[in-house]
Order: sequence, then structure tokens, then C-alpha cells
Amino acid sequence: MRGDLKTTVAHSSGGLTMGFQLTGLKRCPHCSIASPHFTAAWVSQGPTNRTDGGKRLCWGSYACSSCGSIVTCSADVQGNVVTFFGIFPDAKTAHEDIPEPARTFLQQAYETLHAPDAAAVMAGSAVDAMLKAHGLEAGSLYARIDEALTKNLLTKGMADWAHEIRLGSNRPRHADKEKPHVSPDEAKQSVEFAEALGNFLFVLTARVDRGLKAATGVDVIKHG
Ligand SMILES: [Zn+2]
Repeated sequence: MRGDLKTTVAHSSGGLTMGFQLTGLKRCPHCSIASPHFTAAWVSQGPTNRTDGGKRLCWGSYACSSCGSIVTCSADVQGNVVTFFGIFPDAKTAHEDIPEPARTFLQQAYETLHAPDAAAVMAGSAVDAMLKAHGLEAGSLYARIDEALTKNLLTKGMADWAHEIRLGSNRPRHADKEKPHVSPDEAKQSVEFAEALGNFLFVLTARVDRGLKAATGVDVIKHG
């Protein structure tokens, strides 16, 4: 359940449904603007029909007043209470298996995508902190990415990807004098790389560890 989301109750030909405004989202999951204004583009006329016996829910799509993009959500509407179940897409959250301070830098990168320079700097800081967590502390960010490759911490593909994007604020570039700012697309690519690196270095490893422990545990019980 999503207690952070709120709307009013509206009456429709099919029964009670969700109201005109959606509030409570901290940021728009598309443009990441803070305290977004979402207004209904469409709401179902009461709960939608289903044949699988599951709970019938109201559905609605809401448009962000800043970027115009749509979020879709489902809710149970009873009396004057709206209980939200899900929202799609949801705001991005840096995975808890990524260690601090990398996780906070990545979260800030997600939340500053509307300000590309800031997002690229935060993505660079996240990558920097992830490499430091693996003991790679000396030299420039890109030198350490190469070092991570030679230590088999990264795949060749990931290292190549890192070199193709614009991480951080001071990557030496011939074009920097003419083009000091990071484009929205470049920022998005930097943040995607930082996210992938976090998944690769920490999230996947932690999942494998947990899976292995669980599997070994089951095995021990089965044979013990
Ligand atoms: Zn938006």
C-alpha cells in the first residue's frame, strides 16, 4: 500500500472512483521535479471488471503539470477513503545494497535529472564512491575505471561504456570550452551507468550471496 499518495473521492457512473488531483508524490518519476502537480487524464468509472476473482480496483492516469508525462495508479475506493496500491512508473530509489556514500550520491543523481550538470556530477560521485568501496582510491576517475578492468572488477564492456559517457564535472574534453554543459541525454546516460555499476558491483553480489546462503541452508535441512 502507498500511504504517501492522496486524492479525493469522485462519483462516476460506475461507482466511486479517484479524484481529479493526485498529491503526495515527492518527485515526478519522469522529470524529477519536486512536489509535482498531477491532474487526471483519465480515471476508471468505478472499479474495473476482472474475472480472476481478485479484488476490483479503480485505476487512473495522471499527467505531470511540469513535463506532461503520465503516471498510472490503482486504488481501492470505499466511502471517503482511497487506499492506493501501486504507481507506475514509481520514483527511482537507489538500492539498499549499495553502500554509503555511493547510495546517497546515486539517489541525488536520480533526483537531479531535471538539472543535467548536477546529475552528471552526482553520477560521477556515485561511481567514485563505488570504486573507493572496492579499494580503488588513487588517480583520476577514468584511470581507476581502467584499473578496475585490469583487476577484473569490471567487464571490458562496462569500462568501454564508462569511457563513452560524461561522468563528473571535470572530465578533460577538447569540446569543453565550447560545450561546458552536459545535455539531458548525456546526464541520463551517466546516471544509467552509475546505476548499472551499482547493480553490478553490489546489488548482484549481495543477491548471489543471499541466494547461496538460502540454497545451502535448504540443502543442509534436506540432508540433515
Ligand atoms: Zn514530470
